[in-house]
Amino acid sequence: LTAAEEDVLETIEAENIDFLRLQFTDILGTVKNVSVPARQAEKAFTEGIYFDGSSIEGFVRIQESDMRLKPDPDTFAVLPWKQREDGASARMICDVINTSTGEPFEGDPRRVLKNALERANDLGYTVNAAPEPEFFMFEEDEAGRATTDTADHGGYFDLAPKDLASDVRRDIIYGLEDMGFEIEASHHEVARGQYEINFEYDDALSTADNVATFRTVVRAIAAEHDLHATFMPKPIPKINGSGMHTHLSLFTEDGENAFHDEDDEFDLSEEAHAFTAGILEHAPAITAIANPTVNSYKRLVPGYEAPVYVAWSDRNRSALVRKPAARVPAASRIELRSPDPSCNPYLALAVMIHAGLDGIERDLECPAPVRENIYEFDEQKREEYGIDTLPSNLGEAVEALEADEVIYSALGEHVGPKFVEAKEQEFEDYLVDVSEWELDRYLETF
Ligand code: GLU
Ligand code: MG
Ligand code: MG
Repeated sequence: LTAAEEDVLETIEAENIDFLRLQFTDILGTVKNVSVPARQAEKAFTEGIYFDGSSIEGFVRIQESDMRLKPDPDTFAVLPWKQREDGASARMICDVINTSTGEPFEGDPRRVLKNALERANDLGYTVNAAPEPEFFMFEEDEAGRATTDTADHGGYFDLAPKDLASDVRRDIIYGLEDMGFEIEASHHEVARGQYEINFEYDDALSTADNVATFRTVVRAIAAEHDLHATFMPKPIPKINGSGMHTHLSLFTEDGENAFHDEDDEFDLSEEAHAFTAGILEHAPAITAIANPTVNSYKRLVPGYEAPVYVAWSDRNRSALVRKPAARVPAASRIELRSPDPSCNPYLALAVMIHAGLDGIERDLECPAPVRENIYEFDEQKREEYGIDTLPSNLGEAVEALEADEVIYSALGEHVGPKFVEAKEQEFEDYLVDVSEWELDRYLETF
């Protein structure tokens, strides 16, 4: 056992942990759990825990279904909402191992991200990332099902007494802190019932793990208060949706921020500009991964602080990439504003990183920033500025993904085709459905 693994075993003893939840995510980003008695921990480290991969979304075919979970001891955390007198539960996030080869399973989204980080490493970089997940909290009906009602009518940065959910948010923050999160800020977002909790940046792998954990914790603690927290991107039409802006920077091996250059007008280095150019070039394909639901495209419309146009800016929030003001050199970074919190964080970070590194490797030229409100541009003006539009629905996004060799292949031979297949089906299901809107509009008119 490694020292970190030994530490985990000691903590299990000391904290009276009964059960271990071994977690991983499927291709669609859903967290899966295998619960084992805590005394299996040593075996989990040495041999791994076997499970049937054929029941996991997009993992394997039935005839090759044996998978093994290898827990990452660095992700050990006690679950704050599962503490009982007689024993507590803890979780660890796992890598998935293919039993027949003994190698990491290439269909594991965590593996796909590790591949992206290895590419960055080969170029001499580590990757830091910080997400800004937004979410809604809604009331439940008598049957305990989620509604879109909220008793809270607060707005951006409003405080109590308008912000009725602030007690819940405090409990969520305590829960996250118990699980090792460093919370930077929490505020009411623009829409009623909408919140944002920011946690500190970390290396990209930890950040993806953190997003998966964050969504679980927020939902679990909201549920304790009979509220339904949702990361659905646009639950209510005509008001802001929920994004998950993602801040990115590259650091060199000696811990310097490779994105910082104080002589540059924007404080950004050549690498940062080329990385941005790569993101802009691959933006349509990234969208399929970062905005992976039919509903995601209801958010990516003009007027609600969500991006629609492929451009960058050092000022305004209508651009796809923004350069936030940095107080210290270490904080120079770019912010990608398209991702939403329904995405698989491992895959989303992987494709953003590959896109940016492609920009660096090909030394792509970054266009000039756009400082005007792009929502107000007409088509002619957009053409003049050379500004493209993001895919307008899931179908277009998946086509863009398949057409983009760099991004599609970054997903690997397993995840790429499975993802496309699942999303084509999802879009098809949506197209043949008859919605509430259609009934309201047409049923009595015709
Ligand atoms: N909720 C907005 C979005 O859909 C973002 C608002 C903000 O700038 O924080 O991306
Ligand atoms: Mg926000
Ligand atoms: Mg932001």
